[in-house]
Amino acid sequence: MAAGSAIQIPSRLPLLLTHEGVLLPGSTMRTSVDSPRNMQLVRSRLLKGTSLRSTIIGVIPNTSDPTSDCDDLPSLHRIGTAALAVQVVGSNWPKPHYTLLVTGLCRFQILQLLKEKPYPVAEVEQLDRLEQFTNQHKSEEELGELSEQFYKYAVQLVEMLDMSVPAVAKLRRLLDNLPREALPDILTSIIRTSNQEKLQILDAVRLEERFKMTIPLLVRQIEGLKLLQKTRKPKQDDDKRVVAIRPNRRINHIPNTTEDEEEEEDHDDVVMLEKKIRTSSMSEQALKVCLKEIKRLKKMPQSMPEYALTRNYLELMVELPWNKSTKDRLEIRAARILLDNDHYAMEKLKKRVLEYLAVRQLKNNLKGPILCFVGPPGVGKTSVGRSIAKTLGREFHRIALGGVCDQSDIRGHRRTYVGSMPGRIINGLKTVGVNNPVFLLDEVDKLGKSLQGDPAAALLEVLDPEQNHSFTDHYLNVAFDLSQVLFIATANTTATIPPALLDRMEIIQVPGYTQEEKIEIAHRHLIPKQLEQHGLTPQQIQIPQVTTLDIITRYTREAGVRSLDRKLGAICRAVAVKVAEGQHKETKPDRAEVGEGEDCKEHVTEDAKTESISDTADLALPPEMPILIDFHALKDILGPPMYEMEVSERLSQPGVAIGLAWTPLGGEIMFVEASRMDGEGQLTLTGQLGDVMKESAHLAISWLRSNAKRYQLTNASGSFDLLDNTDIHLHFPAGAVTKDGPSAGVTIVTCLASLFSGRLVCSDVAMTGEITLRGLVLPVGGIKDKVLAAHRAGLKRIIIPRRNEKDLEEIAVNIRQDLTFVMASCLDEVLNAAFDGGFAVKPRVERLNSKL
Ligand code: ADP
Repeated sequence: MAAGSAIQIPSRLPLLLTHEGVLLPGSTMRTSVDSPRNMQLVRSRLLKGTSLRSTIIGVIPNTSDPTSDCDDLPSLHRIGTAALAVQVVGSNWPKPHYTLLVTGLCRFQILQLLKEKPYPVAEVEQLDRLEQFTNQHKSEEELGELSEQFYKYAVQLVEMLDMSVPAVAKLRRLLDNLPREALPDILTSIIRTSNQEKLQILDAVRLEERFKMTIPLLVRQIEGLKLLQKTRKPKQDDDKRVVAIRPNRRINHIPNTTEDEEEEEDHDDVVMLEKKIRTSSMSEQALKVCLKEIKRLKKMPQSMPEYALTRNYLELMVELPWNKSTKDRLEIRAARILLDNDHYAMEKLKKRVLEYLAVRQLKNNLKGPILCFVGPPGVGKTSVGRSIAKTLGREFHRIALGGVCDQSDIRGHRRTYVGSMPGRIINGLKTVGVNNPVFLLDEVDKLGKSLQGDPAAALLEVLDPEQNHSFTDHYLNVAFDLSQVLFIATANTTATIPPALLDRMEIIQVPGYTQEEKIEIAHRHLIPKQLEQHGLTPQQIQIPQVTTLDIITRYTREAGVRSLDRKLGAICRAVAVKVAEGQHKETKPDRAEVGEGEDCKEHVTEDAKTESISDTADLALPPEMPILIDFHALKDILGPPMYEMEVSERLSQPGVAIGLAWTPLGGEIMFVEASRMDGEGQLTLTGQLGDVMKESAHLAISWLRSNAKRYQLTNASGSFDLLDNTDIHLHFPAGAVTKDGPSAGVTIVTCLASLFSGRLVCSDVAMTGEITLRGLVLPVGGIKDKVLAAHRAGLKRIIIPRRNEKDLEEIAVNIRQDLTFVMASCLDEVLNAAFDGGFAVKPRVERLNSKL
């Protein structure tokens, strides 16, 4: 090493202690400096020093500098590398530190540590001296051989690398130009070696030793590279492979590589698919399309996105029940029994369903209307649909249409779209696997409309018996015969069903249930079902009818029975816990017996209570079977009652009346409140009212103003002009719900009459009816639901328009018996019935006197 011999490092060197990485002579390293001693070294030697000498430092590997400068120096690695600091970069973030770029010059060994602070300085001896080796003749031959061997490996390694990279080409040149003795250090720092290995090379002061130790590292690297190239090879061929697939197939080449096998497997799948298509019973048109598609598929490389798309399409086509159907087993008598067994009440609905089925039995290919059950939620519409499927022995599939606003939901997306798929009808057919299921189109009244087209229009085609034998889903793009499918629709209201759709359907109203019907439904169907679901038996739990009535009146207020069902479920869950706990504790002594002596009296008087799980003293004990659910137990399980009979309380002031409203969720009672104040004759209406309701309010005011004298109604200042210096505010509570419709007219009149006369409306009276300007009462809809709602709320007298009298026939006799109906044809009759003692045309002497 001619250059090496010229290097004379100072005999005293400041020491930079490093922990990460090992600097070998001839290589360059970047190191971060942040410990106090090292920082000090950089500051005072490198940054302040001006001579070249001052940039030479000793780098001691494998020795971490203490984090504080008060700490003692750790024992230093004996051998280090004298290095030239080429670059210093300082930074304050995230904490003050320097980054040093250092180039290794030669090895040195520490002879003596001269000082430790502010940074260590040592007296050193330079180890790499060329003369030393050339003088040792004995080892020279051996070394020559070693270095030759080493050189060969080094060249082999470098040639395995990509010569087009400039750094590699440079390295190749260096191999020839550098003295051989420098190579071990340089190559060790280039190839993949651990710090430990680098340290060993650093410590190998004798050149021979260094060569010997480096050769295995080189061999290892060469082997590693060979392995890497082997695994990479197939990848390099990837592009070629894709191209190769087609020629291979065409010439029926016998494959022998694994990739070819995979390919062949896929090919087999395609052949199978083709076989399935040919043997399936699809229509001629569909078969033609499928065969064309499979031809395309065969020619298509698998990597094409269209390959998967076409394959999915063909698989769906094969799966569709083109010709597969279940056999109808229709027997009207059995159907009647099944319907009766599954559902209590709903006579009208069951009758119509049986008629429908009977006609089907007589004339098989019925192109009848689509049945549409319309009624509040939870009255059993879906469940009747399911029963129909059961009676016919058909598959049942429910298609929820609520919120569907894209016609491709019904009719599918064209296959050109990414992620395209068939519509719900075709999907349903694929799910049930037969072409004659019962499809329940749930919530047709909640179809939306959007830019993506009108789903109702798509449904028209599905439901029209004249068209649906060739229904074309956009995804399938061939016609599918839907004429065997039995469609049944459900809705909460007909108001929002698009008229064209409504025209295709036969509406069957399913009104809400009376309390008695609900009790029967609960005891015949809901309770047994809940018990079964919770693994309970009637020997473990008993729910008497009064309790059911309590749940119905105080915990639910609905037309159907869904909430009731949920509450019964909650009770069953609570009891299941008790029963399970009881089974667990059966072996424990019965505390009730011990307590009986002390608390005997209470036990006798509250006999029923001790049995129920409401008795907190008993909660921890195995409850006696069956657990009786009484009102106390109800309160424990369901919490305090949600609905109380609050009607009479709210009617304790003038200016409040009860109306009856119809909503898609069934009938509701509705309070109307009015108040008056000084003002300029304005009418304020609140409670989210629709336009029709606002008109009713204006009509009511006008009628009252024109009849004020007759009824002796005056405003606060005694004037018959009710709006003179007076503002009126009418409020319809439950402000979050939009209300509209003409049927509140009579209620508004009554409410205002009460306000201006100062008299209370009877607390048990409810009313409904449209009014005219001349004071006539016109008929309104939804009488049955409204009457049921009034009955649920515990009201006794109901004022309805005379022309609605015929609607009362639909109402069960027992309900009619509970109520008094007042038929009104004009507002006089309404007012007379709404106030105790009538609302006769009477002068209110006292008040008038005081004003005079
Ligand atoms: P809808 O479709 O009208 O909203 P569902 O058919 O889902 O209501 O009925 C809710 C639950 O009430 C179901 O468990 C159903 O069995 C039960 N149910 C409703 N009406 C009756 C009835 N008349 N007899 C027996 N169970 C009923």
